[in-house]
Amino acid sequence: MKTEISLKTEFTPHKSSIKREIFQNSALLALIVMAVFGFFLSTILYYSEISKARTVINQSNHGVALFIDGYFTEIMNTITVLEENKDIRDAMALGAEARQRILEGYRSILKANKNITYIYSGYENGLMLINDYTPLEGFDPTTRPWYREAMEIKPETLIGLPYQEIKTNEWLVSTSRALRRSDGGYSGVVAIDCSMDQIVHLIAQHDQYGTEFSFVMDSSGKIVMHSDQSLLGKSLPEMKESLQEDTKGDFTYRIDKVEYFAHYSRISSTGWTVVTVVEKREIVRPIISQVLFLIGMTCAIAVFLGLVQSTLLSRRLSRPLVELGRKLKATIAGDELEVDEYVYPNNEIGIMAREIGQLAEKELNAKTRALHASEEIYKTILMASPDDITIAELSGRIIMVSEAANKMFGYEPGEGPGMSVMDFIVPEEHERAYANIVKMLEENYPGPNEYRAIRKDGSCFDIEINNSLIRDQQGTPVQMVLIARDITSRKKADQQIQELVQQLEIERDFAQRNSLTDSLTGLSNRRFFDNALRTEFSRHKRLGSQLSLIMLDVDHFKRYNDYYGHLAGDDCLLQIANALKAVIKRPPDIVARYGGEEFVVILPETDRQGTIVLAKRISESLLGLALPHAQSDTSEFVTISLGIASAEDHLLTDGAQLVALADKALYQAKKNGRNRYEVLPPST
Ligand code: GH3
Ligand code: MG
Ligand code: MG
Repeated sequence: MKTEISLKTEFTPHKSSIKREIFQNSALLALIVMAVFGFFLSTILYYSEISKARTVINQSNHGVALFIDGYFTEIMNTITVLEENKDIRDAMALGAEARQRILEGYRSILKANKNITYIYSGYENGLMLINDYTPLEGFDPTTRPWYREAMEIKPETLIGLPYQEIKTNEWLVSTSRALRRSDGGYSGVVAIDCSMDQIVHLIAQHDQYGTEFSFVMDSSGKIVMHSDQSLLGKSLPEMKESLQEDTKGDFTYRIDKVEYFAHYSRISSTGWTVVTVVEKREIVRPIISQVLFLIGMTCAIAVFLGLVQSTLLSRRLSRPLVELGRKLKATIAGDELEVDEYVYPNNEIGIMAREIGQLAEKELNAKTRALHASEEIYKTILMASPDDITIAELSGRIIMVSEAANKMFGYEPGEGPGMSVMDFIVPEEHERAYANIVKMLEENYPGPNEYRAIRKDGSCFDIEINNSLIRDQQGTPVQMVLIARDITSRKKADQQIQELVQQLEIERDFAQRNSLTDSLTGLSNRRFFDNALRTEFSRHKRLGSQLSLIMLDVDHFKRYNDYYGHLAGDDCLLQIANALKAVIKRPPDIVARYGGEEFVVILPETDRQGTIVLAKRISESLLGLALPHAQSDTSEFVTISLGIASAEDHLLTDGAQLVALADKALYQAKKNGRNRYEVLPPST
């Protein structure tokens, strides 16, 4: 588990955030104003353009209608005049001369009116009066549409459908009217064919709009004039609903997904309707372009206004703060302040920034210099320190190490920073090291922790680390200080001490095992006694010298212990021993503690009588001590029983037999009432 705390210590103010905010707000405001303004402008533009287009369409339509009306009024007037001519009416009954006169009259009208191509009259007997035209053999005017239809609607004037002249390819329209004879019957039709060219040219002509054109429908809705000849004679069902009873009006219609703006007007002379149309998209497209241009302009103006506003305001508001920030940063960094070229504006922010700047400069300069000085001192101390001092980030990355540390780990000066503290500890101990760092962070545990360290050359040694945390002003740990010590020699010394202690313990045990003195009483112990007895007995055997033994035992000592306690018991034994030492003073004599509360005295060169004397002295000496014994049946004081054995008769073969004899005598003394001595073998 790794503990990593990343810290950003450097504060970088955003240089133009106020400027940007002002820009955004100003641009937004300008945009809203411009958008509202633009919306109204666009709406006005749209409707004015549409109305303008309507006016243009109306004018074109009006022009065409007027022209056609004038054109046909003239033709119809002419045909009325012709119909009223008596000769023409009765031509069938007239002679060739009269007919020639009629033809002359036709010719002169032709000359006077350029629009008229032909003037002719046909009669039911097959007579056909026409200039410069020779009808084909068997030609019968009564079978022609202009004749038949005029007869059908008589006495009205018929305006026929345009047709193309076979010879000249010229488009013509026939206007015909039935001729009423003098007797009242109808036996002929007079007709004028006039050129449609002028009208066709006029209706195809467009003024302002490329898609503008006009066409003419008769009262039944059939197209009588159209630049697209294929539509002649057809009717447009889409029109029917749109055309009202009024003599003129606006409407829109749609053919094959194409929408048209249209205007119609009726021609009173002919009963026809002139329709002028323009494709709607041609009208709307420039409006959209203009609106888009307007939106673009609006945005551009908004941005421009935003820029102007933000530049002007930031110069007055944010620039002083940015300058102040720059000044503070430079002061904190301890940089030499450049000559201040910036002149603070004379508004509230400018004055405030200038005053803060001056104050901060004074305060911070002093503090920063002091800080830098102390940092320098601290760096110098760190470098000069004989200890391994390492300053690292919490992630373990080393920031600074003392020279001593570099030396301890076998690195060159300047190599430590940038490495991880873990690079200096054997990998097997990394987990424990991380755990200790966490412990330091969570519990403020300062150590010491021991690790197996690793040098640059790969060799290992033992270190002890004490650690501490560097905290920021809020108390958050930001760095750690590690002080490492090479504990190889201490470890070695510890080990040596350990070995020494072990050695001493062994020797103490050995000495104890081989000791010849009783630790409680200071008398010789059983071991010494055994050896001494062996020596004395062999001398007794070798030299035939006297040898006696006194074995003595404290009476009712178990009760003494139970009543007075073991410590008192020990003390009692010590006093008995001292009494024995005081009585048995002759150098070859040996007093030993035989075991428990039993003592033994070896008396070389001493006979039975001498021994008895000593035994008595011992008993007296003890009585002299007057050690109280509340639980004894024998006396109110501590008493002893003694067993005496003398090797006078040379019958004994070893010391053990002498001991057994003394023991036996002691047993008898006990048996005989205690606080006494018995002697074995009994005297002879
Ligand atoms: P008796 O008169 O028959 O000798 O009675 P006794 O109670 O003395 O019997 P015994 O000799 O068998 O008892 C030995 C007692 O001496 C047992 C033990 O409590 C006590 N004793 C032996 N060695 C020590 C010692 O070093 N210190 C103390 N305080 N007591 C000891
Ligand atoms: Mg005993
Ligand atoms: Mg005893």
